[in-house]
Amino acid sequence: MEEPKKEQDEKPEPSKEPEVKPEEKDMVVCKRCQTKQRIANQYCKHCGESFVPLERCGKCGREVPKNAIYCPFCGKKR
Ligand SMILES: [Zn+2]
Ligand SMILES: [Zn+2]
Repeated sequence: MEEPKKEQDEKPEPSKEPEVKPEEKDMVVCKRCQTKQRIANQYCKHCGESFVPLERCGKCGREVPKNAIYCPFCGKKR
């Protein structure tokens, strides 16, 4: 019985990892003062702008935090 010839083709495979810095996705650019900061801060250290995603209230149309249960302006449950 003949063993299949093993081809020694062990060139190092280039790792095809996307060039995304792990921290990049945790960063956010402040809408107000344009400084780049960690989104974990929740608030801009420079101007106090909130990084919490906002969503328009279906009733009053104002921007309210996405994680808010009630609209702080009109009290509509979200
Ligand atoms: Zn800011
Ligand atoms: Zn509302």
